[in-house]
Amino acid sequence: QAKSEGRNSARFFTSDMNARASERLRLETELRHALERGELSLHFQPRIDMASGTTARFEALLRWRSAELGEQLPDRFIPVAEETGLIVPIGAWVIEEACRQLALWRAAGHTALGISVNLSALQLRDAELLGTIASSLRRHQLGPGSLELEVTESVLMEQVEPHLRLLTALRELGVRLSIDDFGTGYSSLNYLSQFPIDELKIDRSFVRGRMLEGGRDLAIVRAIIGLARSLGLKVVAEGVETAGEAATLRTAGCDELQGFHYARPMPADAAGQWLREARQVAGASQVAQAAG
Ligand code: C2E
Ligand code: MG
Ligand code: MG
Ligand code: MG
Repeated sequence: QAKSEGRNSARFFTSDMNARASERLRLETELRHALERGELSLHFQPRIDMASGTTARFEALLRWRSAELGEQLPDRFIPVAEETGLIVPIGAWVIEEACRQLALWRAAGHTALGISVNLSALQLRDAELLGTIASSLRRHQLGPGSLELEVTESVLMEQVEPHLRLLTALRELGVRLSIDDFGTGYSSLNYLSQFPIDELKIDRSFVRGRMLEGGRDLAIVRAIIGLARSLGLKVVAEGVETAGEAATLRTAGCDELQGFHYARPMPADAAGQWLREARQVAGASQVAQAAG
């Protein structure tokens, strides 16, 4: 009895693993052709500057519509792109495409707009990253501060010395650096002060949790804001979904907010429309003035 059950569950386990492995292989096979087939695109999510109530920059977020597999989300295909090394050419495309799009918006009159792009660990280890970024900036005549890179803290802490050199060189190019999902990794505060970073981005988990009830999540948010302030860094919160969350974060001193409360990530044409409407986010500047 027990023996046959064991065998059955073993067989079940194996076929489940097989199914997952072949699904993974299919994803990988299709991803290898995604670039050349033009299946990748960028979506753009506004980051609202609390002082002016306007869009300070967009975060560029990768989208993949596979002809074979349908729409795939980053949480599913980015890990595969990282494991296979495909993230290097894909990431170079993301940088170039983000710069190209930003230059179009700037030429259309949104001259102060910036863009931020997410980077994976493997890209930071790629000897050509610096050259890729420099040539995209040059090609599209983008000045200092227009491009920002978002890197998670765990990635940053992986290899302190080489990253320190690379980030310093990027800084010299005028690229801004942001630590994404801040608070979820294991930053050494000691290294934090050594890296040439411009900004901390508070992870969504602190915003979503029970921040509004006060308690620990709010305490952590305030601590991160205090840390950023004393290091002279900008502080941004992601995943802001409600007016209540926005008000709390604004009052706590965040410089920029990003989340579904303002806008979802959208294709370039919708993002352009968003800019043309030039909506002042109601209350943002007033509250900032009242607080300041
Ligand atoms: P991330 O950089 O932390 O990006 C924020 C994610 O939160 C995005 O998911 C965004 O759509 C989502 N989001 C924004 N506002 C809200 C909100 O109010 N509520 C909720 N629930 N979610 C919100 P997305 O686009 O699926 O991307 C997931 C992750 O994939 C990103 O996390 C980033 O780590 C990675 N990723 C996306 N694009 C790229 C890329 O071009 N290169 C690399 N290396 N990674 C990327
Ligand atoms: Mg990000
Ligand atoms: Mg993030
Ligand atoms: Mg995240």
